[in-house]
Amino acid sequence: MSIVKAAGDHPLYQQLVDIVGEKKVSDNQVIISSYSKDASHLQAERPGIVVMPGSVEEVQDIVRLCNNTKTPIIPAGGRNGICGSCLPRVEGAVMLDMVNMDEVVNLDEDVMTVTVGAGLRWAELIHRLHEKGYKLGFRGPYGGNVGTVGGSTSINSIGYAASKFGPSDEGVVSLEVVLPNGDVIHTGTGWNKDAKLFGRYSSYNDMTGIFLGDHGTLGVKTKVTLKIYPAAEHKLYGDFGFENLQKATDAFLEVQKRGLTEELNLLADRQSTDTFFPGFLDSHPEIHAMFASVVQESDEQLAKRKMEIVREIALNHGGKDLGNFASQMHWGEMFNLVQPLYNNGFWLNTCHLRPIPTIPKMMEQMWNIFEKYDLLDKGIKWIASCLGAERTYATGWVTLFPPNEEKMELGLEAWNEMLDVIMDTGGCPYWNGLLWEDRVLENTEKPFIETYWKVKNAIDPNGIMAPHVFRGTD
Ligand SMILES: Cc1cc2nc3c(=O)[nH]c(=O)nc-3n(C[C@H](O)[C@H](O)[C@H](O)COP(=O)(O)OP(=O)(O)OC[C@H]3O[C@@H](n4cnc5c(N)ncnc54)[C@H](O)[C@@H]3O)c2cc1C
Repeated sequence: MSIVKAAGDHPLYQQLVDIVGEKKVSDNQVIISSYSKDASHLQAERPGIVVMPGSVEEVQDIVRLCNNTKTPIIPAGGRNGICGSCLPRVEGAVMLDMVNMDEVVNLDEDVMTVTVGAGLRWAELIHRLHEKGYKLGFRGPYGGNVGTVGGSTSINSIGYAASKFGPSDEGVVSLEVVLPNGDVIHTGTGWNKDAKLFGRYSSYNDMTGIFLGDHGTLGVKTKVTLKIYPAAEHKLYGDFGFENLQKATDAFLEVQKRGLTEELNLLADRQSTDTFFPGFLDSHPEIHAMFASVVQESDEQLAKRKMEIVREIALNHGGKDLGNFASQMHWGEMFNLVQPLYNNGFWLNTCHLRPIPTIPKMMEQMWNIFEKYDLLDKGIKWIASCLGAERTYATGWVTLFPPNEEKMELGLEAWNEMLDVIMDTGGCPYWNGLLWEDRVLENTEKPFIETYWKVKNAIDPNGIMAPHVFRGTD
């Protein structure tokens, strides 16, 4: 950040320099410009100034400065989100870039937790744990080369291994949070300064959950403690194809109910499989939906038996064994698999949660929109896929790929209709941001959102932390 000289125009420039040093602050427009987007097409205000703290004390000083001067402050991780959640919607905001706070603070083998700086990237954490013989439960969003633990847990990210372990927030045991007044709290067993960080629920209410999915509105996460597990080297893969989506969904639900897989992914139609794995279904003309399954265990026999059961379930539902190319690619290329999809164009996502049995109905309506706009003939591809999550729900990803600027308007029209269908068919977005916020607010029960604002106003009376979020974008 220091290579391009700061303009020094922001009212807090000098005070921020006094806290973190000159090299970690910039309001140069070149720097600001690179901080003014996340991985989506969505746009908001540019930050007024960017600062990179290196310690919890520096975060406290920065937050106190913002609180005293009533300056908006927005925490950011890898800025890898695809919903615009880290983009300010107010002028002059201080953007807090957390990626320098990326240390593994403590690996506690007695209680099987790891405590990390909130700016640590998932890929790096997995690597560091693997060296010690451990794995995470939830392993990060598919953008985990860049996405941080703090960013993901702030927006309920979901992704690798969620089929077994649930979304990112399910793995959290404790948080260290700098509150908007600069105080620090440790949640879970962390309230006891003499205790280890081993449990989320103890003695008081669960204070961890208030900050999970808060989109950076209630405080800055500086450390996150996650559950860890012994590394499990026995991995088995299985791809199964079905003649229609209903049969694929029935089998998918049964496998997910039985909790057999580390990862379970449904590709909901042929075109989606072709976009992901070109040519994969060429010799299977009768297949119109498929799932890819990954079993991982520390015991070989256990892994084998689990995959046998997955296979039996698939075949009982009329499935066909397609080998293991797709599932092996999917797992083996962790964090690299979906990036090349940008070659198809910009992503217009509909990421959300839904009960598995509702997938065919949702897809029927998606296909109607896809055909109504004749998207394929007009050069817009899509991928419709679902990831099994926790016990029996799924994330649904219907992503359109407008290949260039000219196709964007058409893509956006179809996409907006799709977003409405997602909500109307009982889908619930996990992250929110510019992408979902107006639709989500429209559907939120009044006492729910009023309760959120009571909590927010109590914790952040000056309204400095991401003050624009959950207010609507109009
Ligand atoms: C190729 C690709 C694949 C992706 N795959 C997935 C996927 O499978 N699943 C998924 O959920 N997402 C996915 N994403 C989106 C993105 O990777 C995730 O949402 C990721 O969790 C974002 O993390 P981040 O660190 O980049 O957060 P950011 O985008 O920087 O921030 C996200 C939110 O968290 C807040 N925040 C960040 N850090 C903190 C902190 N320390 N304290 C408090 N608040 C904070 C921000 O204010 C913002 O509201 C993908 C993106 C790409 C580009």
